Amino acid sequence: MNTRRDFLQKLTAPLIALPFLPRNCLAANPDLKYDGPVLRIAIMGLGSYGNRVAEAMQSCTKAKLVGVISGTPSKIKTWQAKYNIPDKNCYNYENFDQVKNNPDIDAVYVITPNALHHDQVIRVAKAGKHVICEKPMALNAKEGQEMIDACKKANVKLLVGYRMHFEPKTLEIIRMRNAGEFGKILFFQGLCGFRIGDPTQWRLNKQLAGGGSLMDIGIYAINGSRYMVGEDPVWVMAQETKTDHVKFKEGVDETIQFQFGFPSGATASCLSTYSMNNLDRFFLNGDNEFAEMQPSTGYGPIKGKTNKGELMYPHVTHQTVQMEEMAGIILEGKQPVVPVDGGEALKDLKIIDAIYEATRTGRKIDLKL
Ligand code: NAD
Repeated sequence: MNTRRDFLQKLTAPLIALPFLPRNCLAANPDLKYDGPVLRIAIMGLGSYGNRVAEAMQSCTKAKLVGVISGTPSKIKTWQAKYNIPDKNCYNYENFDQVKNNPDIDAVYVITPNALHHDQVIRVAKAGKHVICEKPMALNAKEGQEMIDACKKANVKLLVGYRMHFEPKTLEIIRMRNAGEFGKILFFQGLCGFRIGDPTQWRLNKQLAGGGSLMDIGIYAINGSRYMVGEDPVWVMAQETKTDHVKFKEGVDETIQFQFGFPSGATASCLSTYSMNNLDRFFLNGDNEFAEMQPSTGYGPIKGKTNKGELMYPHVTHQTVQMEEMAGIILEGKQPVVPVDGGEALKDLKIIDAIYEATRTGRKIDLKL
């Protein structure tokens, strides 16, 4: 007979196979010492998320913050003091092409407003450095393709900050799905949103954000539907609703609902919004069983369960795991379970283009990803 203990053991067993070993794990076991290669990273854009990534990287073994690129000298000074960054590794938005001549920086992590990613990534690639870029990789698929081409031409890697691709409960649900534990996958629901504040911020400026909630938070449902279902959609339909035309100006979406069809016949139904707090839920159903995550994409702890019970993995800081794993991808050619390269991000941009087209035209849009 299966006991609760058997069940918990079964759930925690794959932890052993997890690829990630952060410094705090090493600290817990002083016999383990990491003396392999380290990815030396400069962060571009010292805003809210840049700060979060920098903090999290302090617990990495394979990734190290060594430089900054910012337009604000006072922020550079603060970061230099906090992270022990030498003057020679500090740049601004005018002179960062000079990183080309800096042998102590391997990669640049672009964490600026969405509209700046395209040009900044291409400049970093031309400087011969690997690039990690925040989501959304660009404003549209055309820009995304140009970024991929530039990185290929410069022979540098392009990765995108899809931190959920390394999150243990997410990976466990993907493993269970691949093992057929849910049966034939038939339906996914992804609900992503928060109430956005300050109306003057760049996220509500079409020129800098490229859109509204869909670019910022809805992309989690887009990307999530692909890694949860395990297929790429072949059609999309979408409907936009707006309750506040002052805050959400022309071209800045407040709420969009969208639906996908997948080659297997599975469908997805998703919602992206800037008007509802605590909306962060994934639900996957096969013809046999279900998986549910709530919260599903926030900074965590992520909570996940299936009809067998709760997933028991401990919380890990997403950005620490992401940076550790990305260092492995860049330095050692490691292959993640779910890709995080430019091609993966381009698929999301093609879907975003199609969703906006569907809201404009009311038509069902066919996709070829
Ligand atoms: P933020 O406003 O807090 O920071 C943006 C930074 O870019 C600031 O330091 C700002 O000074 C700088 N900047 C440079 N040029 C600018 C310009 N022309 N206008 C405005 N700011 C300019 O934003 P954020 O929340 O850090 O978001 C930055 C990027 O990170 C976005 O692409 C966002 O989608 C992404 N992000 C990802 C996650 C995630 O979980 N992966 C979370 C938050 C943000």
